[in-house]
Amino acid sequence: MDINGSTQIAGVFGSPIAHTASPAMHNAAFAASRLNWVYVACHVEPAQLRSALHGARDMHWAGVNLTVPHKLLALDLVDAVDPEARELGAVNTVVIRDGHLTGYNTDGYGFEQALREDFGMELAGRNVLILGAGGAGRALAVKCARAGVRKLFVTNRTPAKLTAVLRDIAAIGTPATPVQFHGPALAAAIHEVDLVVNATSVGLKPDDSLHFDTEWFSGRHCVFDTIYNPAETDLLRIARTAGARVANGLGMLLHQGARAFELWTQQPAPVEVMRRALRGAIYGDPV
Ligand code: NAP
Repeated sequence: MDINGSTQIAGVFGSPIAHTASPAMHNAAFAASRLNWVYVACHVEPAQLRSALHGARDMHWAGVNLTVPHKLLALDLVDAVDPEARELGAVNTVVIRDGHLTGYNTDGYGFEQALREDFGMELAGRNVLILGAGGAGRALAVKCARAGVRKLFVTNRTPAKLTAVLRDIAAIGTPATPVQFHGPALAAAIHEVDLVVNATSVGLKPDDSLHFDTEWFSGRHCVFDTIYNPAETDLLRIARTAGARVANGLGMLLHQGARAFELWTQQPAPVEVMRRALRGAIYGDPV
């Protein structure tokens, strides 16, 4: 890569940030698209998010991705928020144009594209259970409601957060059913759905388990874990053993990145190049 006075800059702000595979994905995409762009990872604490975004604007960066813990905070720090980002309650992509910061959410798009690719599945008409009502759980539950799922179940360890998410979903017009985080009610909900989505952070550590039972799953289930590292969480292993179709969150990460690339560059994203770069950075696959 030849960095010079015309190089456009994009990047990701987060804390922590050292683990991110986004630079590998986006720099491969810029190179394949013959764009004189570079993507960097920046450690930004929440208290500095405002000044970091203003700095990116003042230095004429082209765009920024936001990861933990900035996606909610950014809603109030950009000049304009795309309606979908407002509804999903999180900004993960900022486009900087003419000194103006516009916030988007590409995670919902990434989720839908990943389901199409991994399971050949459209959300409309499906029965779905979302595990988790944090930032990702809320966004995915709202996406499901907007996409016209038939039945939506949501569960969360902390009931107060679940109540708030259910209120937002009810406002869209698709009522969601709260489910207790453990026990027979959860097993009964799994029995009723086509798709189970883990949007909790349980599974990130090697010995993490949601303590689900193989008997809760069968060949008619699709199970999607938003976690992509490790490649197979305990949930995915249990579901796969029971005959369910399973997919991890790599496709979601890939397609949110592809959409961000397109918002910044206004060019089609080289998705296969980005996929190979991600798999190389995360799993050590040959690029
Ligand atoms: P968050 O806002 O901090 O929410 C964390 C969620 O995990 C909450 O529902 C929380 O429940 C739950 N949780 C945490 N520890 C738990 C435990 N020990 N037992 C039960 N539940 C627990 O984080 P987030 O941004 O939503 O991220 C959630 C997950 O989504 C992460 O694993 C992240 O990697 C993944 N993600 C993936 C992508 C992708 O592109 N693949 C994109 C975004 C996020 P409480 O409310 O009870 O604390």
